[in-house]
Amino acid sequence: MSMRVFLCTCQKCGTQFDFTGNYEKFREFLDSKNFTCIGGHTEIRSPRAFVKVVTMSEPTTVGEWKPTEGRNYVDIMDSLTTRIKGMQIDHLGSGLYIDRRTMKKYDYEEDSKGKRHYFELPLQH
Ligand SMILES: [Zn+2]
Repeated sequence: MSMRVFLCTCQKCGTQFDFTGNYEKFREFLDSKNFTCIGGHTEIRSPRAFVKVVTMSEPTTVGEWKPTEGRNYVDIMDSLTTRIKGMQIDHLGSGLYIDRRTMKKYDYEEDSKGKRHYFELPLQH
């Protein structure tokens, strides 16, 4: 698990809060059907309408890294790999990348040696 801390503000009441979890979990949160703000209001709309991400930290290091089953690991830092695949890799910030050609996003898990293992994030529905 590559845990990130997302510092967010609610655009309705201005309350700041942290969300800790991986990028996929954060996206699931944003896609929720309703939103309970710690500022004290509940909305029957997706948090996307209210939440603004201020900063996103880099993922925490995974001590004993091993590949997670079902993840598609792609070495997007290797120019030969990206050239063969015809990828147009662009940095989105905090180590999150996107392939501009396919619009697929890539997040990473960092092992204790500091090596980043990039994997493809499932496309949003
Ligand atoms: Zn709020």
